[in-house]
Amino acid sequence: MDCVFCKIAEGVVPAKRVWENELFVAFEDLRPKAPVHVLIAPRQHIVSLNDAPASILQALGQSILAVAEYTGVKARGYRTIINTGVEGGQEVQHLHVHVLGGKPLGI
Ligand code: AMP
Repeated sequence: MDCVFCKIAEGVVPAKRVWENELFVAFEDLRPKAPVHVLIAPRQHIVSLNDAPASILQALGQSILAVAEYTGVKARGYRTIINTGVEGGQEVQHLHVHVLGGKPLGI
């Protein structure tokens, strides 16, 4: 399967990994929009939020909090974004959460 986030999870494509557990890997976005811009992706290939099993949905919130803590943005605040599908602007067809922070983000 030609999926860049699967390859990052497998370690085949290089990325700056910042956190991981048995279900997810978190790595820096290639084109950061903020001082902290990390993507959290499941190790398993799941196309979008619409396709995520309950186990992933339940664990996703904890992974966001872990990444926010680990990257140092938790206390001051941060933004999470999940782009889903065509009208959601999803470019990479592997579920991922953007975690942005490190400066005031505005609206
Ligand atoms: P989305 O529109 O939510 O699908 O966003 C995909 C994100 O993945 C974009 O912010 C890209 O900069 C990022 N991206 C694409 N390829 C890579 C890569 N190889 N390593 C890190 N981030 C990537």
